[in-house]
Amino acid sequence: MNLNAEDKERLKKIGASNLLDLALLAPAKYENLHISKSPKMGLQNVIDATILSTEYNPRFMKLTLFANNFDKEISGIIFHPRKYHLDNFKPNSRSYIFGKLDINYEKLQITQPIIIQEINTIIPKYKSKLQNKTMIRLIKENLTEDALLKIGVDALKIKTLMDVHFPTEDFVDMFLKNDGFSDEVVRDFKYLEIYNHIQKLSSKKTISPSKNILEGDLSPFLKKLPFKLTTDQQKVIQEIKDDFKSNTASKRVVMGDVGSGKTMVILAAAVLAYPKKSILMAPTTILTSQIYEEALKYLPKSFKIALITNKSDKKESLLKYDFLIGTHALLFRELPDADLVMIDEQHRFGTKQRALISQLVSRDEKQPHFLQFSATPIPRTLSMIQSSIIDISRIVLLPFPQDIDTRLIGGCEFADLIEHIKEEIKLKRQTIIVYPLVEESDVIDYQSIEQARGWWEKSFEKVYVTFGKDKAKESVIAEFKESGNILIATTLIEVGISLPNLSTIVIVAPERLGLATLHQLRGRVSRTGLKGYCYLFSKQKPTKRLTEFSKTLDGFEIAELDLKYRQAGDLLKGDVQSGKSFVWFDPREDEEILLEVREKLS
Ligand code: ADP
Ligand code: MG
Repeated sequence: MNLNAEDKERLKKIGASNLLDLALLAPAKYENLHISKSPKMGLQNVIDATILSTEYNPRFMKLTLFANNFDKEISGIIFHPRKYHLDNFKPNSRSYIFGKLDINYEKLQITQPIIIQEINTIIPKYKSKLQNKTMIRLIKENLTEDALLKIGVDALKIKTLMDVHFPTEDFVDMFLKNDGFSDEVVRDFKYLEIYNHIQKLSSKKTISPSKNILEGDLSPFLKKLPFKLTTDQQKVIQEIKDDFKSNTASKRVVMGDVGSGKTMVILAAAVLAYPKKSILMAPTTILTSQIYEEALKYLPKSFKIALITNKSDKKESLLKYDFLIGTHALLFRELPDADLVMIDEQHRFGTKQRALISQLVSRDEKQPHFLQFSATPIPRTLSMIQSSIIDISRIVLLPFPQDIDTRLIGGCEFADLIEHIKEEIKLKRQTIIVYPLVEESDVIDYQSIEQARGWWEKSFEKVYVTFGKDKAKESVIAEFKESGNILIATTLIEVGISLPNLSTIVIVAPERLGLATLHQLRGRVSRTGLKGYCYLFSKQKPTKRLTEFSKTLDGFEIAELDLKYRQAGDLLKGDVQSGKSFVWFDPREDEEILLEVREKLS
């Protein structure tokens, strides 16, 4: 687009950064100002009218008109007339009037007519922060067949865009009859929207050279493992192996449900990088300690491994280590020249922190390989879209298939729940109870942690309590892990902490939580094959959303359910988890259009 500075600013205001962005802003409606040759019933008509007589009262004004273009007398009605109506509709005057035509008492009647100056044109009405005439001008000046051809839009879709922005009378009549655009037009808009989005994403993809080709030997590590890797773990490790052979720095997200064994992939990647150095950043001290323990257990003894948290000695140089495992405390240390940077539970970090850790070990142009791990599977369509900017691997199989019964319960079943918890305690198993709130609230009709804890503490032994802002939460969880019966918490417990004796989770007010969060919470139990139970305690009747959730344990399936039950408007905000929201394209039902676009772009 050839734009002056003011117009550039205007387009920025409406979020249009390229020609297709502008072209995809379709009018919300049209005003057809062509003089009607014959009456178009139920539609807006332009009439060449001579006023014959008028009848006024404060509630409405009645007109008798001669429609010169129909050669016929018709009536008109104006509700809540103002003084200017009286001035404008004077008997014996002749003007072009515009309004909706219907039959009333067997006579043609025009409702709420207005007098217009401009005729024989169609005015698209845009819903936009800009004035309509500005929108029309910008479209006229920029949206040409040549310009669209140049950016690779095919002839049929160019025709659709032209029809929408520069419509014929027939097109507008169809629009009014359908009460919107036809399915064909909508389909073309969906196509162009997702095409445009993918092209923009792809153009943001940066390709940087890697520091080195990494070809560490995996076999000693694999031989020493006490179990065989699942086929999905093997597949992802192979993908990473291929990445590392390349001269470009890889950028990959490994997506796999809680318990799918992502830590083994992390360790394998560090082995592949060896003798070059690796860094892993994870969101909490507990999680980093856990991974550190596993690294010590499974990695070859030659590996020099360190655990870095904010308690670590800041004076110690980290340059000698092969593998650093730490929290964001890593960001404040001098880091060795690592070839591989990994982030676990990546959605727990901000975009800036994630970018920073990899920048810290970049040298000139050259970047480390960058792997992120996520326990939040995203739906297939969204991951296809994201794959234009980042490579995505999926781990679907779990090493221990989880065995969890999910039950939707209400107040009546509370006594059964207490019985169940007592039984589990006898078996030395643990329960987590998740409340929606820490303190009492007027808005939510559920107990808060502060209200409920007294009862639990009175009724059971070894009850622990923690919540998001609790400074001691990590040590409380660690103590609970060792010796607790019941942990009362908020959704903070979501992070991937392993609690091998946890058999039951009770989630209070599940209707307030997204399916992804519920899935994360439920995934805490039965991590090592233990029989697990998830109770969803609600004061409301079970919804279809929760019932369907209770029937599957597959994170990828739940991601699809989540998409299905979300409002289209809630879709996609943020980064890899999501993307952006679309006006036309619906990731829930337009997979086939997406495939077509990918085919064209490949
Ligand atoms: P997550 O994907 O949630 O990070 P973890 O890596 O913590 O999962 O793995 C969960 C548990 O499964 C750990 O105890 C781990 O040692 C074990 N595990 C991982 N891979 C396998 C496997 N292939 N066979 C058996 N157990 C495995
Ligand atoms: Mg993990």
